[in-house]
Amino acid sequence: MFELLKLRKRHGYQAVPNIRAAKLASPFRGFPILKCRHCIDHCQICIDSCPTGALTRSPLSLDMGKCTFCGECSRSCPAKAIQFTSAHRLGATDRDVLIIRDEQSPADWEKQAVTCRKNIARFFGRSLRLRQVSAAGCNGCEMELNACNNVNFDMGRFGLDFVASPRHADGIVVTGPVSRNMAPALLDAYHSVAEPRLLFLVGACAISGGLFAESTTIDRSGLETLSIDLYVPGCPPHPLTFINSVLDLIGRK
Ligand code: SF4
Repeated sequence: MFELLKLRKRHGYQAVPNIRAAKLASPFRGFPILKCRHCIDHCQICIDSCPTGALTRSPLSLDMGKCTFCGECSRSCPAKAIQFTSAHRLGATDRDVLIIRDEQSPADWEKQAVTCRKNIARFFGRSLRLRQVSAAGCNGCEMELNACNNVNFDMGRFGLDFVASPRHADGIVVTGPVSRNMAPALLDAYHSVAEPRLLFLVGACAISGGLFAESTTIDRSGLETLSIDLYVPGCPPHPLTFINSVLDLIGRK
């Protein structure tokens, strides 16, 4: 017993103390900054290098819902018009907000990205139970969601938890591009959650199909009929991205 207590004292408090103020360092690639004025006329290099079609030209924009944050566009651009910062707060409640345009700064973007709806704060502000459904995910997003519960990030201290059954959950967290065989299972899980229920899409695959968007083996028709409460970009998203996005959504300071 005393040995255990001594061990506990030696370990100290391991969780990130202030998850809202936590910062990540390079080489983490987070919020992109686009500088269109640096673009060279008729240059297509970044667009041709993007594996997911996340970039559009005239004017230049980057869709974080499609982006895998591989950094290839930034590396290949001769004019350095695309730079990735280490800002990790990338969640949004509106799909269109994920499209980043010229000279948007992470601080300004964050302020309007997640809208805390009053009824969500009222029902789930102090406790939120989530069921994760991997709809053909590669396990990258799933591993990062697992990490949200480890001693470093410890999202349980905010009343956020994953549960085993959708019957015990307040919402569904989807990862993966949604394959044909997982599409009905995902809808079953979603409809098994009692109303009011939440739906989060986590990672580029869940948000847009990601690298698999053109595949004939995915079926997103059912998912597209549902109302989405939160988009969390990344490939995979960092635990700090996920936890802070959910805390913003449920109105926790
Ligand atoms: S970082 Fe994103 S936008 Fe740039 S090439 Fe990779 S996937 Fe495309």
